[in-house]
Amino acid sequence: MSGYFFSKDSLAKDDRVLLFVGNRILVRNGEFLWRRDQIAEEFIAQDTMIKVSNGREDVLVTRAPAGVEVFLDAELSSLRSLLFEGDERAMLVAGKANQLLDWHASHQFCGFCGEKTAPDRSGQALFCDRCQHAFFPRINPCVIMLVVDGSRILLARNARYRTGFYSCLAGFIEVGESAEDTVRREVKEEVDLDVGAIRYYKSQSWPFPSQLMLGFFADYASGEIRPEPGEIEEAHWYDIHDLPAVPSAKVSVAGELIEHYVKAMKSSL
Ligand SMILES: [Zn+2]
Repeated sequence: MSGYFFSKDSLAKDDRVLLFVGNRILVRNGEFLWRRDQIAEEFIAQDTMIKVSNGREDVLVTRAPAGVEVFLDAELSSLRSLLFEGDERAMLVAGKANQLLDWHASHQFCGFCGEKTAPDRSGQALFCDRCQHAFFPRINPCVIMLVVDGSRILLARNARYRTGFYSCLAGFIEVGESAEDTVRREVKEEVDLDVGAIRYYKSQSWPFPSQLMLGFFADYASGEIRPEPGEIEEAHWYDIHDLPAVPSAKVSVAGELIEHYVKAMKSSL
């Protein structure tokens, strides 16, 4: 098998293996990559494994049965905890692995005719022989934007994901929208402001569960802040010299947007 798929039967004893229990990762002494010969055969729950590269070698990923951590003297870590420990290598591999495992699990059957799917020849899609339809992994594009107005920036706290941080506004791109349309719509919906010029900054893969975050700066144009009930807990203008707790620029594009803007403004003052 090639592409994203790997047969359990082809495993060699020193292959690198990553095991998920539910959506958490099996970790022992801070190490999340296991050697094949550290793991009993029955702990590898699926015959078809997912293959991802960590830049140096292939890592083979599968689900393990619940409770396996007790037998392996290991712990279960969430993807988010790996991210917030700043382990970029782990995030790259585990984030991609998590998205591909989810895709594989949710496309076992054709959405058109209900027939069982199988990896196609390239190994990059799951294929329905009856419909001749290929199902590729999907990512969901989102925008994340820092609304700025000279030396003040708009930061908000989400009502549903309470992190303790004040951060940028964000939202999913809807069918038929450009990314810029979404920036305008989401800012209007979430805080009732209108924005003028919009500048793209950079993007980030965000595997919770499978977003591509497109980061923008948006210039404030008009309006008074009115947080959307149920969505935005609170939103305020903050002076760049007096910011609340914001996400780290090492972890998220939100943090990078804030850091980049604040640095640029401070150096221009
Ligand atoms: Zn079909």
